[in-house]
Amino acid sequence: MSLAFKLLGTDGLARRGRITTAHGTIETPAFMPVGTAGTVKAMTPQSVAETGTEIVLGNTFHLMLRPGAERVAKLGGLHKFMNWPGPIITDSGGFQVMSLAELRKLDPDGVTFRSPSDGSTHRLTPERSIEIQHLLDADITMSFDECTTWPVEEPAAASSMRLSMKWAERGRRAFVERQGYGLFGIVQGGVFPSLREESAKALTAIGFDGYAVGGLAVGEDKELMFATLDTTLPQLPADKPRYLMGVGRPADLVGAVRRGIDMFDCVMPTRAGRTAQAFTRRGELNLRNARHRDDPRPIDEHCACPACRNHSRAYLHHLIRSEEILGAMLLTWHNVHYYQDIMRGLRGAIEAGSLGHWIAAFEAEQERGDIPSL
Ligand SMILES: [Zn+2]
Repeated sequence: MSLAFKLLGTDGLARRGRITTAHGTIETPAFMPVGTAGTVKAMTPQSVAETGTEIVLGNTFHLMLRPGAERVAKLGGLHKFMNWPGPIITDSGGFQVMSLAELRKLDPDGVTFRSPSDGSTHRLTPERSIEIQHLLDADITMSFDECTTWPVEEPAAASSMRLSMKWAERGRRAFVERQGYGLFGIVQGGVFPSLREESAKALTAIGFDGYAVGGLAVGEDKELMFATLDTTLPQLPADKPRYLMGVGRPADLVGAVRRGIDMFDCVMPTRAGRTAQAFTRRGELNLRNARHRDDPRPIDEHCACPACRNHSRAYLHHLIRSEEILGAMLLTWHNVHYYQDIMRGLRGAIEAGSLGHWIAAFEAEQERGDIPSL
């Protein structure tokens, strides 16, 4: 039963693995584009797959409000509904609910909240979150947790984490085991090593198919994020996948893979693609900038995505300035393709035992900055 994870190789602390789900395999380290409301924004499912993406993330919070989990289930589940036949992971809804501030009320049993779109009242408990994710037919279900706020004092981080651990245990009991489906626990505890350790121990005692590190990339600086990974990851079982939630920029992915993370999700490549930002081997650039207006060269001559193969910076600049939808589509495609290029590079380097060299080359190229203007 449940998910299979095979550790294929290591290079230092970095891991090369494979997760087998009911809807296919995921080569790790893996990046999972965010498909908030049943769509990776500005991309068709076919174009998402062409980037090398093997798994997408759906948001419980958005899908439960619209179109509703029961409706998706009646229509055959999220895979069929959005025409994504591959693996799907769903978040628990906790992160979005907690960010509603005055629209939500937390109690020991769960959270009651008002929909930000129509004001209707809804409730999420650990059991209901697991049920919704089951209705959506997620291959990977996430525990319902309280994402601890930042900045936070240690006592508040401790009580928040302990509530999440109680919820994790309730979610584990509610989860229906099926072949190729799994449930992940989420380590919380802010940036306090002893709390992270306590959380990791509590979760491994319950037993999950994978372990996520939550509550990071919420405003703490990068060194603190990496330091928290350094103290947390050794506490987690080596034979289960590890997922760093909501991270991040290219250099964050590389730094976390080096420390032993297997999976990531982040809105950054898709959101940036809708705001004229491109991530490239040579850093970040903004296609809205006037210096691209007469530039016939692609974003990156080595990138195999359709934006780079078929279009100039000048054309992309024109699309963005004209607020043409195609501009957002092409830049999103490029960004997701580039993120998957990074993951392909990391996987190959771990297999070859050359991760150190790969990272040195990655960092050197990022530091060179964009090609000079014409
Ligand atoms: Zn490209």
